[in-house]
Amino acid sequence: MESEVKALLETLNCVQSSLSDSDLVSQLRQHGEKIISLLKSPPQQIKREKIKEMSSEVIDSNPYSRLMALKRMGIVNNYEQIRNFSVAVVGVGGVGSVAAEMLTRCGIGRLLLYDYDTVELANMNRLFFRPEQAGMTKTDAAVQTLLQINPDVILESYTINITTMDGFNKFVESLKRQVMSHTRGGSTGVDLVLSCVDNYEARMVVNQACNELGQTWMESGVSEDAVSGHIQLLIPGETACFACAPPLVVASGIDERTLKREGVCAASLPTTMGIVAGVLVQNALKYLLQFGLVSKYLGYSALKDFFPTMEMRPNPQCSNEACLDRQKEYLEQKPARDAAKAAAELESAESEASIPLHSDNIWNISVVEDHEPVSSVSTAKQENLPDGLLWELPTADTLETTLSEEILAENGDLDDLQRQLDALNAS
Ligand SMILES: [Zn+2]
Repeated sequence: MESEVKALLETLNCVQSSLSDSDLVSQLRQHGEKIISLLKSPPQQIKREKIKEMSSEVIDSNPYSRLMALKRMGIVNNYEQIRNFSVAVVGVGGVGSVAAEMLTRCGIGRLLLYDYDTVELANMNRLFFRPEQAGMTKTDAAVQTLLQINPDVILESYTINITTMDGFNKFVESLKRQVMSHTRGGSTGVDLVLSCVDNYEARMVVNQACNELGQTWMESGVSEDAVSGHIQLLIPGETACFACAPPLVVASGIDERTLKREGVCAASLPTTMGIVAGVLVQNALKYLLQFGLVSKYLGYSALKDFFPTMEMRPNPQCSNEACLDRQKEYLEQKPARDAAKAAAELESAESEASIPLHSDNIWNISVVEDHEPVSSVSTAKQENLPDGLLWELPTADTLETTLSEEILAENGDLDDLQRQLDALNAS
């Protein structure tokens, strides 16, 4: 420190002797002295204390006021419930670390972090990790940073390789451990697993664990050229699992990492990774706090600014045994689930009807539907579907048949039409 201060003062003296503008020199000297005083006494580390209850009070010291405002804005009913949720982030790299930071800042209850790698200077083109953390395990470095940002979050660091037998067992055991009292995860101890890994093998391992546990998870990925990415919601039995629609090309019988060409490494951009982490956590928040539409699949093409979405149904011929078991269970439970859903919808419709839309609607303005909603389910074709399932929308040919039948019904039968035509021709 002493030598740096001396060097700075010497530089200032040199500048003084080489410049004739005394005002500029004195400004530079003042600025230099300020830097020296800052170097001598580094800013005090402000430690964020734990907060027992989330409050919506708008004061500068409340880190949750802007989040709780989502309730006042009518976006989320129950923001403080976020403290009841446990989320596992598998892979704490360019996407996972940013996703973990977002969840921490949002005040998630518990975060489980999995990675076997260490922080390297080569990671500094991405967000989150800092150069002084080089050499630390990614999970430990993440816990260090996240604890400072929000000490309310319960953080668990797992430096394990989930693709090994031992790592897989530890991974499954940690997912099953019940720490929080409320979860959306059924029999497991977590509400959601976010896969932020960078290879096919690790994705298949997460898929296997989640299929076995019946655990809902979200998958994310960024392409090797860094200009596209995707997220996907996987609910075992209900949506396609990762093995239901395997990629066209996969590594076979060799270690995937050896495929990387000598001296050539995959590209990565902090922008694409940040965007993918953003849409992933956005979808996770919507799923956990039950607001908005939770996308089943959302792609991102950076070159065309294109965000395709699609539905992904499970494959009845999936190669994953556990996936087939979950599909079977899902079909068996479907009637009970539909009945519960219909009852809940009826209840919410009744309670909505009893509340006046706007108590101060002095002009008596009301909004009406433009046209009748399409009644589809009852007319839909039921062929090619297992018992208990039905198509939500009519297929194109069903719609056509329905329409031509309606036209006939309106105009009487064909004989009638013929008689009307004959009468017209005769006159
Ligand atoms: Zn499957």
